[in-house]
Amino acid sequence: MAGIYIHIPFCKSRCKYCDFFSTTQLEKRESYIHAVIQEWQAYQSQWRKQDIRTIYIGGGTPSLLSIESLQHLLHSILSSIHSSRIQEITLEANPGDITAEKIQAWRSIGINRLSIGIQSFNDRLLQLVGRRHTAQEAIQAVKTVQAAGITNISIDLMYALPTQTMAEWQNDVVQALKLNVPHISSYGLIYEEGTLLTHWLEQGKLHAIDEEKEMLMYDHLVEQLTQHGYEHYEVSNFALPGLYSKHNSSYWNDTPYLGLGAGAHSYDGEKRWWNVADIDHYITQATNHQLTPEEEIITPEARHTEQVMLGLRTSRGIKCTAVDMEKASAYISKGLLQLQDDNLVATTKGYHILNRIIEDLV
Ligand code: SF4
Repeated sequence: MAGIYIHIPFCKSRCKYCDFFSTTQLEKRESYIHAVIQEWQAYQSQWRKQDIRTIYIGGGTPSLLSIESLQHLLHSILSSIHSSRIQEITLEANPGDITAEKIQAWRSIGINRLSIGIQSFNDRLLQLVGRRHTAQEAIQAVKTVQAAGITNISIDLMYALPTQTMAEWQNDVVQALKLNVPHISSYGLIYEEGTLLTHWLEQGKLHAIDEEKEMLMYDHLVEQLTQHGYEHYEVSNFALPGLYSKHNSSYWNDTPYLGLGAGAHSYDGEKRWWNVADIDHYITQATNHQLTPEEEIITPEARHTEQVMLGLRTSRGIKCTAVDMEKASAYISKGLLQLQDDNLVATTKGYHILNRIIEDLV
């Protein structure tokens, strides 16, 4: 099995916490899509032999692409692989871009899953972090998608936002559950270098919420979602049975993926490579078939570290034989790891300090 990720690095405005690679130069969208298609053509003879099952169009804000661009892009890929084997084509969408007409058009070109960046149902917090939609627009967007016949929906939620209270977070979780979507991804805010929120933090214009409160927010999320039938299948991801993200699961299951677009990363089981994270350079290089991605050969040691790291993020865990069980036992006795048959799995408490546990075990 394999997957294709397509990076669409365009946004109408920059959210104040975001350090993803994206630009507001929307006028470059068409030449960019043309370049991505050229890049695919350079890889297609090699990758069409792979059993490609998923396509994920992420960003950025892919819902800003015209239907013609999306159609052209998907057609160029689907027409050169065994498209009948594709199980999942996901498009990331912002609530403000969703209309009934667009959903019909997306469905007609094969998109069967939407990942909607809601982040919060609190207008004050949405505004504070620079999101362009309101809570009401987000709720309406999900209902519009459901009414138009796409039921495979994921929503993103953020917690540990500056000034966010526990009551506000509890309300976000209630609102998310009311939407009846099969998949929820949720991340605590990270103050990334170079973002406006980090700048304000450094200037003392805002305060991060404390670590203990952040952990309580995470615990509340896990408790509520699992009580409502969601499976906590990855540290930040929850799904109703059978509705895990197939594409994202492939990242955690050591499956090859081809990343197309500026800054996109690829993996073929032996090495990783990644494109230049610069729109203009990418367009020039891809259009002229002169892409020169950087690459890294994965050594057996690095592979082992990654397998432990990725495995412990998921509910399947890792084989006990993958790590020093004497070290692992100390975490088991503290309730941070647990044994499930022959596998070692992190507990909710363990997820709080997962990076430290992994560092110690590998
Ligand atoms: S819409 Fe997404 S990618 Fe764009 S700036 Fe906001 S968080 Fe970043």
